[in-house]
Amino acid sequence: MITTRREFLKVSTVGGIAASLLGFDLTPVYAQLRQLKISRASETRSTCPYCSVSCGVIIYTIGDKAKNVTPQVVHVEGDPDHPINRGTLCPKGASLEQDILNERRLLKPQVRRPGSDHWEDIAWDTAIDEIGHWVKKTREASFIERDAKNQTVNRCEGIAWIGGCTDTNEFNYLVGKAMRSLGVCYLETQARV
Ligand code: SF4
Repeated sequence: MITTRREFLKVSTVGGIAASLLGFDLTPVYAQLRQLKISRASETRSTCPYCSVSCGVIIYTIGDKAKNVTPQVVHVEGDPDHPINRGTLCPKGASLEQDILNERRLLKPQVRRPGSDHWEDIAWDTAIDEIGHWVKKTREASFIERDAKNQTVNRCEGIAWIGGCTDTNEFNYLVGKAMRSLGVCYLETQARV
């Protein structure tokens, strides 16, 4: 009697190897199993957000077309038609489904107040107001119009920006424009090719 998932996988694997040794070709069976998993799903082509290689992925969701049903991601795999990766994904990209379906995923902005030992959720409007307030205050306090040689530099040394690997090329372009317009010179992004 099989009592655990591990035992089930062990028996299935041994069975599969035995069937292969007996001359059965299991490739169509595995293909059929995969087909069953995604048969009712909708395909959405997207781009892996993890690094600047930008591999193409297909995201499979069910429930998109039914009323009052939240679409649910059921499978993510490499896009075989994509010119960069031709269906392949590195281990990080292959775990994308866990990135989407993760109870630890943050869905709201958070802040840790001075002196506090924990992060708290705040509303998006509050986050935007507070960022605007602190950017203005910091820039005014650290803006340098002229350097030691009396040359005009107009730079802000009190703010730094670093972009994450999930930022798109377009987002990084806009960030570059916004930061340079503020005079920020400590600026780095992971712009996509
Ligand atoms: S699958 Fe891997 S190599 Fe491709 S974009 Fe994602 S992280 Fe980069």
